[in-house]
Amino acid sequence: MTSAIYTNPATDASKDTQKNGPKDTRIPLAGMGRVELAEALTDFGIAPKQVRMRTKQIFQWIYNYGVTDWDAMTNITKNLRHQLAEKFSLNRPEIIERQVSVDGTRKYLIRMAPGIEVESVFIPAVSKTGALCVSSQVGCTLTCKFCHTGTQRLVRNLTAAEIALQVMVARDDLNEWPSSSVERKMTNIVFMGMGEPLYNLKEVAKAIDIICDCEGLSFGRRRITLSTSGVVPEIVKAGEQTSAMLAISLHAANDELRSKIMPINNKYPLKDLMDACRAYPGLSNSRRITFEYVMLKGMNDSPYHAKELIKLLEGIPAKVNLIPFNPWPGSPYECSDWETIEMFADKVNAAGYASPIRTPRGRDILAACGQLRSESEKLRASAKRKLAKAGLEKAGKV
Ligand code: SAH
Ligand code: SF4
Repeated sequence: MTSAIYTNPATDASKDTQKNGPKDTRIPLAGMGRVELAEALTDFGIAPKQVRMRTKQIFQWIYNYGVTDWDAMTNITKNLRHQLAEKFSLNRPEIIERQVSVDGTRKYLIRMAPGIEVESVFIPAVSKTGALCVSSQVGCTLTCKFCHTGTQRLVRNLTAAEIALQVMVARDDLNEWPSSSVERKMTNIVFMGMGEPLYNLKEVAKAIDIICDCEGLSFGRRRITLSTSGVVPEIVKAGEQTSAMLAISLHAANDELRSKIMPINNKYPLKDLMDACRAYPGLSNSRRITFEYVMLKGMNDSPYHAKELIKLLEGIPAKVNLIPFNPWPGSPYECSDWETIEMFADKVNAAGYASPIRTPRGRDILAACGQLRSESEKLRASAKRKLAKAGLEKAGKV
C-alpha cells in the first residue's frame, strides 16, 4: 500500500489561479470572529438593532453548519441573502495538495494567500482522540537543530482567521459538519505544526476563541494544546488568555545540551522555564503540563539523562511524551534505538510520570512532528540551489 497524493490542478502551487478566472473581490467572512463579523455587517448597512441577531445567525451558519452557500441560510430572507452574497463570500482557502498516509494521517497544504502556504495534519484516533495539528506561523524564527521547520526562515505570522480556517478546511475534508454532531473524528486541536505559537499569541488567542465558541466549532478549551519551545514571558499570559493545555518542547534537561539543540534556551534557560511552568494558570494533577522529549541517539537518551529529567520535573504535575526523532532530508541526527527509548520510558514512568512513546504517524508523507516545511519554501530553496549551481557551472567550478 502506498500513500496517496492529490494535487488540485486549479491551485497547483506553480500556477497563478487568478489567471484562471476573474478574481473574487468579495470580503471573505469565514475565519472572522464575532466582533469583526458584527463590524462587517454594520458597515454593510444592517440596522443597528439587528446586528446582534444577524451576527449570531451568520456565525452559526458558518461555524456550526459549515455552509459555503448563502442560499443555505434559511432564516435570512432571500432578498437580504442575495445582497449579502454580492458583498461577502463564504469561501475557504484552497487545498493545494492533500496527502493520505498509509496509517490514515492526512496532510493538507493550504494556500492562504499568494506565497502563504501552510501545512496542517490530521492524525486519526488510535483510541478516542483524533487531533488536528495546526500551524501558527509560516516558517519559524527559532532554529531548533532537530526540526525541519526550523530550517525555513519566518515568512510571516498567520492571522486568527488563517488559523481557524485550517480547522474548517479539515472539517470539510472529514465531512464533519455540523459541529454539534456527536461522533466526531477530529476531537482535539494541537498547535504543533509550523511556527512558534507564543510568538504570535494575540492571533492564536483570537483563533482559539473562534474555535471554542460553543455556537460554532465548539471545541472545549481542554481539547486545545499550545506547544511552545519555551518563550518564557508569554507562557503565563498564554494560559490566562486561552485556558488551553500547555506542552513544552523540552528535549533536554540540562542547560548545556538544551542550548546546543535549542538556541532559545540561551535566552530563557531551564530555571526560568520551569518557574513559568509552575505558574501556569490552572495547573493541577488533572491539568498536567506535557513535556515533549525527542529521542536523539547518543545525545539525550541515556539513563543519566532520564535521571536529570526526573529531577527537573520534581513537584510539577507533568506527563512526558517521548517522541522518536523523525528524520527529514539532511537532518543531522538519528533516532534512538527502540530498546533505549523503552528503557528511558520505564525509568521516567517508575518515577511517577506517565511517559507514553508517541507512535510516529504519517512519516511516509513527511507529516510527522518536525517534518513540516511549506511547499513554496521547498520550491524557493530548490530554485536557489539550482541558481547557485548554474552560477558555479558558469564560472567553470563544477
Ligand atoms: N514551535 C512549537 C510548536 C511546534 S511543535 C514547539 O517547538 O513546541 C512540534 C513538536 O515536534 C515540538 O515538540 C518539536 O520540538 C517536535 N519536533 C521538531 N522536530 C522534530 C523531529 N524531527 N522529530 C520529532 N519531533 C520533532
Ligand atoms: Fe520552531 Fe518549534 Fe521547530 Fe523549534 S521545534 S524550530 S520552535 S517549530
